Amino acid sequence: MAEDFLTLTIGKTKNIALIAHDNMKHTLIEWCNENKDILKNHFLCGTGTTAKMITEHTGLPVRGYNSGPLGGDQQIGAKIVEGRVDFIIFFSDPLTAQPHDPDVKALLRIAQVYDIPIANNKATADFLITSKYMEMEYDHDVKNFKKNVEDRAKSL
Ligand code: PGA
Repeated sequence: MAEDFLTLTIGKTKNIALIAHDNMKHTLIEWCNENKDILKNHFLCGTGTTAKMITEHTGLPVRGYNSGPLGGDQQIGAKIVEGRVDFIIFFSDPLTAQPHDPDVKALLRIAQVYDIPIANNKATADFLITSKYMEMEYDHDVKNFKKNVEDRAKSL
């Protein structure tokens, strides 16, 4: 019988998503510059404007999705589900209402479901980026989505 959880591996090279709300963009750009030597060893992506600004100010290649309010956070959430994003730095703005708040909440939730490391402020980002796991594989258990569907289809 299939197990309730699957062991997945976050590779040595991480697929890192970078997102910052407008008031936090310069903080994230500065943080990327400070950590450029580490970040350059990983695959980077981000919401549209954030990705573009990071590339322009740091020279790091960052694949851009749509802008956050136009669905970029949801695109990144979908990549988590597909196993194609496994690490997130998301400097959200705690003091300004966002039109796409439901999308932000959805992204945080799906990151939690898939046990993805996610930093929402600089201190957490500093702790994550200096973790020993940045240079090695990391195995973690996530819900077995196939079994979950089978069980639900049987029981409902
Ligand atoms: P942006 O989106 O990078 O396109 O500004 C970020 C967000 O607000 O989620």
